[in-house]
Amino acid sequence: MAFDSLRRVEYSLPSLEDFEDWLNEKMTQDTRLKSDQVYRIPVIVHVVHNGENPGEGANISYEQVVSQIQVLNEDFRRMQGTRGYNDDPAGADTGIEFHLAEYGPDGEVLGEPGIDRLYGGRDSWPSSPLRNPIETELKPSTIWDPDRYFNIWTVNFGGFVSRNLLGYAQFPDMSGLDGLSGTNGSASTDGVVIGYQYFGSSDKGDFPDLYAPFDLGRTTTHEVGHWLGLRHIWGDGDCSVDDYCSDTPNAAEPNYGCPEGKISCNSIDMINNYLDYTDDTCMDIFTNCQKERMLTVLGNSPRRKELVENTGTSVSTREMETKINVYVNQLTKTLYVEFPQPVDNVSLRILNIDGRLVVGEKQLNSSMNNVNVSQIKPGIYIVVLNDEESKIFSSKIIIQ
Ligand SMILES: [Zn+2]
Repeated sequence: MAFDSLRRVEYSLPSLEDFEDWLNEKMTQDTRLKSDQVYRIPVIVHVVHNGENPGEGANISYEQVVSQIQVLNEDFRRMQGTRGYNDDPAGADTGIEFHLAEYGPDGEVLGEPGIDRLYGGRDSWPSSPLRNPIETELKPSTIWDPDRYFNIWTVNFGGFVSRNLLGYAQFPDMSGLDGLSGTNGSASTDGVVIGYQYFGSSDKGDFPDLYAPFDLGRTTTHEVGHWLGLRHIWGDGDCSVDDYCSDTPNAAEPNYGCPEGKISCNSIDMINNYLDYTDDTCMDIFTNCQKERMLTVLGNSPRRKELVENTGTSVSTREMETKINVYVNQLTKTLYVEFPQPVDNVSLRILNIDGRLVVGEKQLNSSMNNVNVSQIKPGIYIVVLNDEESKIFSSKIIIQ
């Protein structure tokens, strides 16, 4: 058990106090992003393999990647009806979402959205403390512009402590801000690295290499939390050190398994927090303070603030948006738009992929709507729905 602390690890913070001072100042200045909005982050997953066919071994399938992105969204959005939901008053819907990038660095459409399959030329990647050559070779030579993409690498960890390393993250940087020089890593290594056996969820498909009890995608949720500035909830020390969040009770040490009711530092440990070391089935909460930290980092930190796309929608609108159903019956050439409840004055437009208006604007005033699309020639189109104030939904459709 000597290496348990390496199960989910990240860089030590050479300038920890600087970072906390900086973050605290930013939070006081209220330069964090607004907390009632939805923000989206484009993701590229570098699937590093050793010549396996897609879907085999480390060359994980597109579906496995998608299952991980779904888990991130369920957890960061505290989505009802998923493992990411909790009804704890301290629990937060962070408003942060992740989506697989649709376009490559040169604007090309990616055949598999958000996936860059890479032949790494080795069976496994040493997980020794310095994690070279991942840090010195793999990441710098394969990273996509970190001002445009959140980079994730999936690899087969090997070597001395491989059985205990699930993933690691690079903390946000505050260099160039307020004269602080502390950095937590270079731009050429920014992102997170996850063992492919822990990337994705066995809830969402048959992915035989996923390794229980870390097979539900929570390693990535944990590491993305670090990437957005969260500390372990036990503060990486005893009861005298904190994670700088008052709504996560102090804990004396990391927890493993799922020790419900565990008491340390005179309070019940929040073992279900994503920033503990508990099993994937045990976790279901980011707190309000953790949300504030992440929104502060997203509003200020290099290679975070450039990435975030403000959707212009509020959290409550977005909740409805996820329940809007848009599809085409190709036989009857009918577009269906279904809402979870009756709507007032939602307008519909259909654009072609160059952004030109093909159909519009139609007013939708009920929960079930259909639009005749028989006059539209076959191709890919975009359906855009607006309420009186802003865009509430857009989706690609194919007309055959
Ligand atoms: Zn960690």
